[in-house]
Amino acid sequence: MEDKNKRTELSQLGEFGLIDEITKDFRCVNDSTLLGVGDDAAVLRPEKNRQVVSTDMLCEGVHFDLSYVPLKHLGYKAIAVNVSDIAAMNAIPKQVTVSIALSNRFSKQAVEVLYEGIRAACSQYKVDLVGGDTTSSRSGLVISVTAIGEVDETLLAQRKGAGLKDIICVSGDLGGAFMGLQVLEREKQGFMANPNNKPELEKYERIVGRQLKPEARMDIVHELRDFGVIPTSMIDISDGLASELFHLSKNSGLGMAVFEDKLPIDRMTYNTAVEFGLDPITCALNGGEDYELLFTIKQDDFGKIENHPDIHFIGYTQELEKGLYLVTKNKNVIPLKAQGWNHFNQQS
Ligand code: ADP
Ligand code: MG
Repeated sequence: MEDKNKRTELSQLGEFGLIDEITKDFRCVNDSTLLGVGDDAAVLRPEKNRQVVSTDMLCEGVHFDLSYVPLKHLGYKAIAVNVSDIAAMNAIPKQVTVSIALSNRFSKQAVEVLYEGIRAACSQYKVDLVGGDTTSSRSGLVISVTAIGEVDETLLAQRKGAGLKDIICVSGDLGGAFMGLQVLEREKQGFMANPNNKPELEKYERIVGRQLKPEARMDIVHELRDFGVIPTSMIDISDGLASELFHLSKNSGLGMAVFEDKLPIDRMTYNTAVEFGLDPITCALNGGEDYELLFTIKQDDFGKIENHPDIHFIGYTQELEKGLYLVTKNKNVIPLKAQGWNHFNQQS
């Protein structure tokens, strides 16, 4: 067995040696992948008449902090967030490319752990790693993933397309990833103040997991197909519900009304928000990185999914002039603000 504490410098391995090492355990499983890693370009033969492509870049110090994000989770998350964008088009992901910029701080073993996470996600979402690029970085770690998916033209769901009086739906629950990040940040501060402080994470396992190991809701995409429901518009929640509602609103040319008492908030998220002196509703509206799906359906389709345990009906679309608002429990109407994460000011 390999010694766990062994450290092989990347310079000893060289670029090609590293690429061989990190890609050797990947196998392609999709029929649309004719040729994967190893040539100048991958060769694909899509089986559906539309392909969708999406890219996301994760930069150390901006999108993640390696002092509390394990490399394996980071690899998993890099794939999951891209698959989530494919899911948001109501498409099925098929291939990914992964490009990394590494500083000499990283050993071969560290890169292997990152790729273990990437491999776990590729297997979870049945996507083939078909290429990428490997280069050096003078500062932090950068990972850029491109995901490619397929969909029949008739099933494609865009941000535009919602109709008047459509029902607004959201999968899962909201605000958990944001509260998980608050917990991780607090424990980091505690540890920096006194390294003998042991991080207290067990109590918060679920929300910390929501932050560190988000899942793309491919299960919802498949279930909507099974139930014969095509969303009239769809987006994934990366920047917070309010911000994504604004995107659907702008692209579909409609106003939206959502109801406070319909917002899905998990008990641990709620209690932790209160513990931190935050308003749980604000966390659900503006907390980022839940990677749930926000979509609209025609009223006629409601009966097909009304009993789904993990789809919540939070409001309806209305005339653009009526605007975007939240109806509180006391029936007050509060205009929504698109308070997405500002990537230039704070971590997201
Ligand atoms: P080229 O010089 O033609 O760009 P590379 O030597 O960069 O080729 O890459 C060789 C093969 O390895 C290509 O198929 C490329 O897509 C793949 N590859 C390179 N880096 C990575 C990576 N980090 N992850 C996955 N595949 C990679
Ligand atoms: Mg290259």
